[in-house]
Amino acid sequence: MTFLFKNYSRRPIHLVSGKGTIVQDDKGKQYLDFISGIAVVSLGHAHPAIVETIKNQSEKLWHVSNLFESPEQEKLAETLTKNTRFAHAFFCNSGAEANEAAIKLARKHTGKHVIITFEQSFHGRTFGAMAATGQEKIKQGFGPMLESFRTVPFNDPAALEAAIDDDVAAIMLEVIQGEGGVHEVTAEFTDAIAGICKSKGILCIVDEVQTGIGRTGTRYAYEQTSLVPDIMTLAKGLGGGFPIGAMLGTAELFDAFTPGSHGTTFGGNPLAISVAQTVVDYIFDGSFLKEVQHKSDYLIGKLESALPKQFDVRGKGLLLGIDCKEDVTSFISKAEVVGLLVVQAGPTVIRLLPPLTVTEEEIDQAVDLLSSVLLIPSLN
Ligand SMILES: *Cc1c(COP(=O)(O)O)cnc(C)c1O
Repeated sequence: MTFLFKNYSRRPIHLVSGKGTIVQDDKGKQYLDFISGIAVVSLGHAHPAIVETIKNQSEKLWHVSNLFESPEQEKLAETLTKNTRFAHAFFCNSGAEANEAAIKLARKHTGKHVIITFEQSFHGRTFGAMAATGQEKIKQGFGPMLESFRTVPFNDPAALEAAIDDDVAAIMLEVIQGEGGVHEVTAEFTDAIAGICKSKGILCIVDEVQTGIGRTGTRYAYEQTSLVPDIMTLAKGLGGGFPIGAMLGTAELFDAFTPGSHGTTFGGNPLAISVAQTVVDYIFDGSFLKEVQHKSDYLIGKLESALPKQFDVRGKGLLLGIDCKEDVTSFISKAEVVGLLVVQAGPTVIRLLPPLTVTEEEIDQAVDLLSSVLLIPSLN
């Protein structure tokens, strides 16, 4: 008997506390957390700067609604858009909500209705974001889907070209498909997207809900590509564990939304904004991002030397996938038994998403545990 709907297959572990990369269950067993709440707890569990921010802000003001001016939202928007193409922000509570805002903004600005998205993509579970998602299993039983989302093979410039017509408002993509199997966009494909968007006046939306806020070693993953995005969505790592999402857009899109065009009751509340400001100030520091890149190289090097060639290690920064070329469900439960939490991405890929604050020692331990699970046949 459960009081909860069955839309999750939950692992039989009750986690009760955490510090940095380590979480502990109700029996006192400790785990290395290489999931981070699915790329959320980017500064680790119970980071002192976040704890302090929540304490201070919760004694001042939690929530007032967007009926009032918010210098705090202004400041966070300025921080997020600094040295980017973006000029404005809308704050909400989740990745799906950020994508809904992006879809609405793109349609309102262009007056067109088709959004092109890609196979294996993931954009969220609300009706628009679900329709945008390029995975049939996620839409199963909920049809008919909203029309006007066109799903095209990923990294296939010719297929993309063939899907373009005068109704297309935007092309929406993840720089690395996280949920869909840790598939990186190719340079050839980003060149094609940038070219098509420019020549046809089509908007480019990057969904950086998983890849953004330092996860791939730069502030945003698109910065490592030739993409020229008009809209970007953020969530997961933005609040370090506190729910917040954001949609950023260029100055050209500023007039598309007028009062009443879009809204949210909770989005951008002072508590969420203060936490996100703390997180972003911490992560956007150049030396912090260099460290993330360094740890990424270290982790990739360790994995490649520990695992035989049939294991394909891919991804960027601390969003990495190990394609095991076979179903990984049992590996994931075995990792859990030996004290390592990892999550699947597609049927054959183990995804590694440690906090960006993970130490080299923790990386050493995690790789030892993982190779024991993947390589010692007696465990399998
Ligand atoms: C997780 C995710 C979403 C959905 O975010 P929610 O906060 O769960 O709504 C959207 N896009 C990408 C790329 C994601 O990884």
